[in-house]
Amino acid sequence: MTVTHEVTNQAPPLTGFSAADDPALLAALRRDGGAWGEPEVLELGALAGSAAVQDQARWAEEQPPRLHTHDRYGHRVDEVEFHPAWHQLMATAVEHGLHAAPWTDARPGAHLVRAAKFYVWSQAEPGHGCPVSMTYAAVPALRAAPELAAQYEPLLAARTYDFGLRAPLTKHGLIAGMSMTEKQGGSDVRANTTRAVPAADGSYRLTGHKWFTSAPMSDVFLALAQTDEGLSCFLVPRVLPDGTRNGMRLMRLKDKLGNRSNASSEIEYEDAVAWPVGEPGRGVRTIVEMVNVTRLDCVLGSAAGMRAGLRQALHHTAHRRAFGRELDRQPLMRSVLADLAVESEAATVLGMRLAAAVDRSQAGDAGESALRRLALAAGKYWVCKRGSTHAAEALECLGGNGYVEDSGMPRLYREAPLLSIWEGSGNVAALDVLRALTREPAALDAYFTEVEAAAGADRRLDAAVAGLRKMLAALGDPERAQLMARSLAERLALVLQGSLLVRHGTPAVADAFCASRLDGEWGHAFGTLPPDADLDGILGGARTGRDVG
Ligand SMILES: Cc1cc2nc3c(=O)[nH]c(=O)nc-3n(C[C@H](O)[C@H](O)[C@H](O)COP(=O)(O)OP(=O)(O)OC[C@H]3O[C@@H](n4cnc5c(N)ncnc54)[C@H](O)[C@@H]3O)c2cc1C
Repeated sequence: MTVTHEVTNQAPPLTGFSAADDPALLAALRRDGGAWGEPEVLELGALAGSAAVQDQARWAEEQPPRLHTHDRYGHRVDEVEFHPAWHQLMATAVEHGLHAAPWTDARPGAHLVRAAKFYVWSQAEPGHGCPVSMTYAAVPALRAAPELAAQYEPLLAARTYDFGLRAPLTKHGLIAGMSMTEKQGGSDVRANTTRAVPAADGSYRLTGHKWFTSAPMSDVFLALAQTDEGLSCFLVPRVLPDGTRNGMRLMRLKDKLGNRSNASSEIEYEDAVAWPVGEPGRGVRTIVEMVNVTRLDCVLGSAAGMRAGLRQALHHTAHRRAFGRELDRQPLMRSVLADLAVESEAATVLGMRLAAAVDRSQAGDAGESALRRLALAAGKYWVCKRGSTHAAEALECLGGNGYVEDSGMPRLYREAPLLSIWEGSGNVAALDVLRALTREPAALDAYFTEVEAAAGADRRLDAAVAGLRKMLAALGDPERAQLMARSLAERLALVLQGSLLVRHGTPAVADAFCASRLDGEWGHAFGTLPPDADLDGILGGARTGRDVG
């Protein structure tokens, strides 16, 4: 046999680490009352970094779901078949309470703990986060129909993953989906044409199409449809109480850029039985309760993607040599890695702060509800937008290997834009920031109370807060304000991230963040931190669990 070459200078596989080896995450968990959940976060983090789960993630993506519209005899079945790895991922997520469990958990910090678990577990495989997240988010909307909530909430919160099309109330645990977007309009759901007609027993019959409905094997969906009173929200079961299939036809699965493990379908409702949730004609107001929660998961999911990308970049550059030394010892690469670490920590602290606001809002804290209203919209806009850029740069740290599927980086890269598109695309999130500013003045007060908790600690942050106030004063009429919406959303998010980092972050990260994001003439790409940034301090604090196991 001819030996063609010996393999040298390639990084070893990155496996057996803990995704919970993340000082910023654990500090946020302890700070805001979630210390009791740390053992489970650590357990899930170690699982996320295990070879077995990495295999599940690979299989779930490589063997995507398949739609079966008919059985062999021609009967409609409308079923989606998943690789067993998908079910394993889902079962772990549900058993660890990443879905609706916190809504029935009275412990303070339940949502924060859930956020930390979602963040570490999403690093294993993001696609199944979609149904998990929708199940989490369905509960606050469903509470607008107390009788339905009383029946369904315990099952949505149950820690049993019970896959299969059976009557929901006969199952041990339920998964929920969301069915809003139609062909003629997604952001503008008021353009929905699906029609809901009342039946004699108080239920409705839905007829119409939905252009996107992810996780179509879910047990129940919150759907929007038009009634005489206007757009209304409904609970639609996949299977009726008598065990027969509801009138819900799966027409096609989307052939997507990423998020391949998850099924996203086009569906048609044909006289589908549906129960009203909330007042007829107030459908947007009702379902927005769900969207607000899935938006939090978009922020957490983007932060998780950044952390996963950073880990890969640190691992590769620690093992790869070029021009006489390891890549991570080359000053310019160190600057890139440090900048990625800064962005990642900023996203993590913001995501966790938003999750803490959910807990406190639930406990009746009006200031926290107001803060969440504005900060979530700005965070959804900015953190999700940064996710794609971060993924691209982390991928580039691996050079050509990063562009190859085996590295896992393409999966991260493909997933990132989705978090910016769904649950309110960039412009929609930015316009939501404007809406919060004009309609809910308490939100801005709460925002400034939060960011000014760091007043006097960093002159660049103080100047950025003053600059933000000026920007707000210059908003002008609504058309002009729209032209500033993205800049404003970005600034609001950056100032909040800066304030959180100055108060709670790794000092070197806080300093580099203020210097590069709030001040100065440095570049906009990653790797353009000021030359005097404390790269050792940043990278030293960004432990990623690379060396565990
Ligand atoms: C993989 C995937 C899964 C999905 N799953 C679901 C699901 O389960 N359930 C569901 O209901 N939907 C789902 N969606 C749909 C998703 O929520 C919508 O695609 C999204 O809300 C955008 O709506 P749209 O596609 O109709 O785009 P449009 O609303 O047409 O928007 C197109 C662009 O215009 C911008 N825009 C819109 N309005 C304005 C404005 N006033 N000013 C300036 N710019 C504006 C948007 O920001 C966007 O960039 C999914 C989408 C994807 C990609």
